[in-house]
Amino acid sequence: MQTIYLDNNATTPLGAEALEAMTPFLTAHFGNPSSSHSLGAIASQAVQVARAQVAGLIGASPEQVFFCSSATEGINAVLARRSGRVVTSVVEHAATLQVLEQGRGNDEEVTQLPVDQMGQISLQRLEEQLKKGPCTVALLWANNETGVIAPIADIAILCERYGARLHVDAVQAAGKLAVDFARIPIASMVISAHKIFGPKGAAALIVRDPDGIAPWIWGGGQERGRRSGTENVPAIVGYGAACATAARAIDRRMHDTGTLRDHLESALLDRVADTWVNGAGEPRLANTTNVGFNGVDGETLAGMLDSRGIAVSTGSACHSRTVEPSHVLRAMTGSYQKASQSIRFSLSHANTLQEIDTVVNEVCEAVTRLR
Ligand code: PLP
Repeated sequence: MQTIYLDNNATTPLGAEALEAMTPFLTAHFGNPSSSHSLGAIASQAVQVARAQVAGLIGASPEQVFFCSSATEGINAVLARRSGRVVTSVVEHAATLQVLEQGRGNDEEVTQLPVDQMGQISLQRLEEQLKKGPCTVALLWANNETGVIAPIADIAILCERYGARLHVDAVQAAGKLAVDFARIPIASMVISAHKIFGPKGAAALIVRDPDGIAPWIWGGGQERGRRSGTENVPAIVGYGAACATAARAIDRRMHDTGTLRDHLESALLDRVADTWVNGAGEPRLANTTNVGFNGVDGETLAGMLDSRGIAVSTGSACHSRTVEPSHVLRAMTGSYQKASQSIRFSLSHANTLQEIDTVVNEVCEAVTRLR
């Protein structure tokens, strides 16, 4: 049975361009970028090409890109050694919430802004926090569970006005939205390869002022002394190729994916009674819909779909082995029950209309049985 994969916000398969670019670096071009011989130079040059490709996708300059192993690492690099107050929200990814949790007990203060029913923070509340004095603001650009897009340009301007340092989790935004780091006053930002058809094991921390970022792993001085450890050259090369492809294809991909997502969403709302979309009405990523089915346990529904060859998720992947319903949906709906009745479909341009029609039929049947 071929899987219909609708869990692309958790991870994506490796794209053909990324695989092709990586293959020589898994075989013949195995050199260490720090070595002074030719094999080393080939690897070192490939890392620099990838740096430019990654920078190109998000409108940064190559010097602003620091490679790391995962967005989680990049988030930790910025937030684990913070000083002073931090303002964040209740719907952040676990990487942000957990690293901030670790710092509790020191004298710094962490404020978690609530969200409305649509998953948005109040800019007025944010401004009240900014007026209290210098702080770091850590927010998602696009939510991984609902796809709801934050007005990050407005947030950035507000932070700039009050001298706050804005750190953005752009993991789901990059490759799905026009991200222009050069034009939005964001201090730092994380992105990750495996969400955009690149390999696992490569990600990037993007910093406005490359001189202002302190080392977070010490050793041989790779990544200009900030992140020591021999580079994962094949993964970085694959990441660069995935970014180059995404930059070329973003409009078409999002148009095609959005058409499929809208079809899925409207068919489910039409055909399954007592159904809602979490975050409907807000700007959302074109590939994501988070749908609630009244009276149906989301975990059970996701399990039934899995047994029929359809991969979906009930929350962020990091939480999917726990029975706790999503913290994001609980914050938005104010209801444990509603949160537990929702599932996330995250599509990609690789899906087909035929697949979506199959999914709609299977969901209708499964929901009817469960009710
Ligand atoms: N932030 C968001 C919004 C995510 O969706 C994810 C992955 O689930 C992460 C951070 C963590 O990314 P990584 O898997 O590269 O650590």
